[in-house]
Amino acid sequence: MRSQQVIEFGKPLEAREYETPTPTGTEVLLKISACGVCHSDLHLWEGYFDMGGGQKLDLAERGMTLPFTMGHEIVGEVAALGPDATGASIGDKRIIFPWIGCGSCARCEEGDELLCMSPLTLGARYNGGYSDEVIAPHPKYLIPFDGIPAELACTYACSGLTAYSALKKLSHLGENDTVVIIGAGGVGLSAVHFAPSVLKCKIVVADIDETKRAAALEAGASAVFDNSDPEAVQKMMELTKGGAGAAIDFVGAPSSAGFGLNILRKGGTLVVVGLFGSSITLPLPTLPLMMRSIIGSYVGTLAEMRELMALVQAGKVAPIPYEVRPMEDANASLMDLKAGNATGRIVLTP
Ligand SMILES: [Zn+2]
Ligand SMILES: [Zn+2]
Repeated sequence: MRSQQVIEFGKPLEAREYETPTPTGTEVLLKISACGVCHSDLHLWEGYFDMGGGQKLDLAERGMTLPFTMGHEIVGEVAALGPDATGASIGDKRIIFPWIGCGSCARCEEGDELLCMSPLTLGARYNGGYSDEVIAPHPKYLIPFDGIPAELACTYACSGLTAYSALKKLSHLGENDTVVIIGAGGVGLSAVHFAPSVLKCKIVVADIDETKRAAALEAGASAVFDNSDPEAVQKMMELTKGGAGAAIDFVGAPSSAGFGLNILRKGGTLVVVGLFGSSITLPLPTLPLMMRSIIGSYVGTLAEMRELMALVQAGKVAPIPYEVRPMEDANASLMDLKAGNATGRIVLTP
């Protein structure tokens, strides 16, 4: 097994050779076909999340040990099965659902693995997909993707699922309401693409980049705004006749979240998805007086992953742009993503 690993936080990834792991119990060994490079890999590689005010969420303190193999958007082919791994066969081509819980806490026992406080995420706690082989803990995490190229299918495990789950949290909004999507980068743009399959309401997009606004219009947004325009809030209020039912912040920066809160109607919801970081201050009375909610959405559940793939296979999700590169280029790809030099999802193949 050849893996591109984090040896030291913030230092270039290095290739390491290991014995092919032998699956035990319910484990499944897959030969990796493709693995997406996600923006959150940059945070893992750096070893922390910026919590604002100089505070950092340190990943080593949270149990991340090095050397480590990142990569949570994984597609592979089943190569070996543990003695108790039923429901998978050698040669099956599958997406691996990476958002795995500990299996023994109250939330996991309820089936809400995503809410587990000790998650065992592939590519964040278990070694992930920047490699040619990977172990999935159980066949239940393997999702078929027949008819979809492996290099595209892998992106649904994080990018696609994140967009889908954020939209689904707003499925209560009616057709006269508006959802404002802030940030039309990779994940935001996929949300615009398949919003009509999940939501009844209108979709408006706010982005500071003109090219991204144009892409959002092409993807089906009913209107676009430049949220750095000082009159953007007022224009949005006029368009929505008093505010949006919800905003989804795919950036997660103080400016984008602040904009999202400013354009909500009474009873509106801000869904924060992006992990850019830092913090905001909030006048507390606006929450009760305006009856607003601020919620977080992080990737999605195993059930949502299956729903999403049904939509994808029914042709209701337009493919995102992606660029295939050799696995050996993992470090260079990560650096390109950090520098903003990636057009579309970078997908690595061994
Ligand atoms: Zn991701
Ligand atoms: Zn758990």
